[in-house]
Amino acid sequence: MSNAWTESFSTLAKNLRPSAVSGLFKAIKNPKMISFAGGMPAPEVFPIDKFAEGAHLLKDRGSELLQYGTATEGDSSLRSSLIKFMAPRLGRTVDMEEILLTTGSQQALDLFAWAMFDKGDAIITEEPTYMAALNVFSNHGAQAVGVPCDAEGMMVDKLPALIEKLRGEGKKVKGIYTIVNFQNPGGMTMTVARRQKLAQIAGEYGVPIFEDDPYGYVRYEGEHLPSIFSFDKAGNTLYAGSFSKILSPGVRIGWVCGDREIIRKMSAFKQSTDLCSSPITQALVAEYCEKGYLEQHIPVIADNYRKRRDAMEESLQRHMKPLDVTWVKPEGGFFFWLKMPGVDCEKLMTICLEKMVAFVVGTAFCIDPEAGRNYCRLNFTYCKPDKIEEGIRRMAEAIQSLRK
Ligand code: PMP
Repeated sequence: MSNAWTESFSTLAKNLRPSAVSGLFKAIKNPKMISFAGGMPAPEVFPIDKFAEGAHLLKDRGSELLQYGTATEGDSSLRSSLIKFMAPRLGRTVDMEEILLTTGSQQALDLFAWAMFDKGDAIITEEPTYMAALNVFSNHGAQAVGVPCDAEGMMVDKLPALIEKLRGEGKKVKGIYTIVNFQNPGGMTMTVARRQKLAQIAGEYGVPIFEDDPYGYVRYEGEHLPSIFSFDKAGNTLYAGSFSKILSPGVRIGWVCGDREIIRKMSAFKQSTDLCSSPITQALVAEYCEKGYLEQHIPVIADNYRKRRDAMEESLQRHMKPLDVTWVKPEGGFFFWLKMPGVDCEKLMTICLEKMVAFVVGTAFCIDPEAGRNYCRLNFTYCKPDKIEEGIRRMAEAIQSLRK
C-alpha cells in the first residue's frame, strides 16, 4: 500500500531487497533451530569477567565517557594498543593519523564507499564475496565486478585484463576488495605469492585495495601470513580489522589503517554518519587491551573453534562426501563453503528450515546469483559439536530428498 512515505522513497530505497539473512535471523531465534547461518561467535567464549573488570571506568571517568567523544578518529589509547598489536601483521608501526576506529568494520566499508564512489564506478571483488560489502557498494552506486577464486584465493592473474577491459568501457576502477584470510564465504586464504602479486598489480595500475581482515587472527593451524598492506610500499592498501570475531561483535568496534589522506576523508564522513563511536565501549576495550587480555584471549577462541571446525569437517566427511559435496577445509575463520552439484540451495533451504537447520544460500554472496546456485555457507563457530553433527545429518537427508 502506498502512502506519503512509500511515494517519497529514494529510487535506491524503492529497489532495496530484504537481505538474505535478515529473514533468517527471526528463524534462528527459535531455540530448537540448529543455526549455521550467522557469522556469530560462540557466546560461551565471551570474556565476560575480564570485560566486567572495566566497570570501575563508569565511576572513575563517567562524566567524560558518558559524554560525546571529542575525537571522531577514536580513543587514543585504544588506537595506540592497536598500532602495537597490528605491527607484525602490517609490517610496520603505523602513525596515529593512519588509523581510524569505526563502528564495526562494516562502517569502514561504508566510509570507504562514501570517499571513493561516484555513480557507475567499478569495484573489483572476489566472486563469491561478503554480501554486506556488496550491499554497501550498490548503496553508493558502484558496480561490483567479480573475479573467480580457487583454493589459493582470488585469481589475481585475471586482474590486469579485467582492469583494462573496464577502463576500455570508460569505467573508473576505484578499488579491489579482498578478504584475504579465511574468506567469507569461501573459507580459503590467499597465498603469500598472490598477496605480493596483488600489491604489485595495484601499484602498476594505480588501483586502491581494501584488505578486509576480520577473521585473520582466528587461525587454527599454520603460520599467520603477512598482509597485502605489508607488501604494498606505495601505500595503495587500506587494511580493516575488527573486534567482532576476537572479542565481541556487541562492542561494535573496528578499525581501518592506511594512507592519511583517505583516513582523513573517511573520518570526515564518519562525523556525519555517527559523530563518533561510543566512548564508553571504546574505553572498556582500551583497558581490556592494555591489560594484555586480548593476546591471552585469542588462543582461547582458537582452541574452542578448532574443535568445532574439526567436528564439522568430520560430519561433512561422514554425511556429505558420499553425496559428492565438496569444500576447502578452512585453516581459520568461521565458515565452510559447500559445493553441492545438482542441488538448488534455495530449495534446500526451504526443506532444511522445516527440519530446523539454517544456513545461508550461496546465491546471496554472488554478484550473479546464479553463480552461487549450487553452494551454501555454513558457520561452525556458533553451535556446539553435538548440534553440528545433527545439523549436518539433517542437511544431508534434505539433499538426498531433493535428488530423488
Ligand atoms: N567484513 C567481513 C568479511 C565480515 O564477514 C564482516 C562481519 N561478518 C564484516 C566485515 C563486518 O564486521 P563488523 O562490522 O562486525 O566488524
